[in-house]
Amino acid sequence: MDIGTLCVHGSGKRYDTTGAVSVPIFQSATFTHPGVGRSTGFDYSRVQNPTREYLEDALARLEGGTDALAFSSGMAAMAVMMELFSAGDHFIISDDLYGGSVRYFRTVSEKNGLKFDAADTGDLEAVRRLLRKETKAVFVETPTNPMMQVTDLAALSELTREAGVLLIVDNTFLTPYFQRPLELGADIVLHSGTKYLGGHNDTLAGFLVTNRPEVAERLRQLYKTVGAFLSPFDSWLVIRGLKTLAVRLERQAQTAMALARWLKEHPRVRQVLYPGLPEHPGYAVMKKQASGFGAMVSFKVESEELAVRVLERVRIIQYAESLGGVESLMTYPILQTHADVPEEVRAAKGIDGRLLRLSVGLESERDLMDDLARALEG
Ligand SMILES: *Cc1c(COP(=O)(O)O)cnc(C)c1O
Repeated sequence: MDIGTLCVHGSGKRYDTTGAVSVPIFQSATFTHPGVGRSTGFDYSRVQNPTREYLEDALARLEGGTDALAFSSGMAAMAVMMELFSAGDHFIISDDLYGGSVRYFRTVSEKNGLKFDAADTGDLEAVRRLLRKETKAVFVETPTNPMMQVTDLAALSELTREAGVLLIVDNTFLTPYFQRPLELGADIVLHSGTKYLGGHNDTLAGFLVTNRPEVAERLRQLYKTVGAFLSPFDSWLVIRGLKTLAVRLERQAQTAMALARWLKEHPRVRQVLYPGLPEHPGYAVMKKQASGFGAMVSFKVESEELAVRVLERVRIIQYAESLGGVESLMTYPILQTHADVPEEVRAAKGIDGRLLRLSVGLESERDLMDDLARALEG
């Protein structure tokens, strides 16, 4: 089945006999047992709920996994995933990641005795040099947030398989519509479903997807133990969001490409980071492993003052955290998503006061261009 059809039809499973075309919201905490020692398959909503199960099945199919788990946020998914590991375990992470992930590793995982080394995971030799016998996983984003660095997942997965460590990919930026890491050799995919999967800036959600049954079994055990699950109503909102994932992403990526090309020619823009531009260092790898370039565009303007002015002047584009929804949002990484990343790390990556990150939404290309043109004026 084509992925666009899968987005609309989800798991296709029906949980009631009314013929309802939209999966019902089973707003129930618990379920009656039909007899002693018997179950309908649902006992208690922390463990499983029909609306959530429908969504999890859809996500597993979209990513090509054997199991998917839905959480109350991307960070809740991260917290449960990190419980797979123990004190002394070592991680290799991309050196340009969502700021919240870095904060989690530094403030929670390190306290629990895990060790981290960061590298440009697009550089296989750099990853290989950091491997040690305690290494348990490599954690990457591709493209990264906000610098858009690209990692060749098939090549990296050969290395992680050989080393016997897990490859974990945060696939929030591209979604399974454009990139399916499990098919490229990854073991676990993490999502902030708050972004493109939900797609409407109206709900928080997170996912873990895997095709490794032993990993899935441990995650399910942790999942019901920790209780950071997605509610039935929020599950339904993401199911509804998913139905339009294909058309949203096609259009958003197309507009992002047009804006990236336009920004590149603007006299006050110094640099445009979009992996769909042929001069982007990750372009060839993106062409090989993804079917689209996404709708996130980072760019640097000529001065810090101008960056601040742009944020204050945009009208259609909104100055707000988050990404991936129908409304275009602009963020200032240095003050928002990456405020907790140590200054020297930010400086080394080029995350400075001139950098803006644009999440291209579904408004018309013309209106977005006019908005940016006005904001960039003297
Ligand atoms: C937003 C985001 C997260 C965290 O997800 P929440 O749903 O906000 O908890 C993780 N990774 C990436 C790439 C994100 O953009």
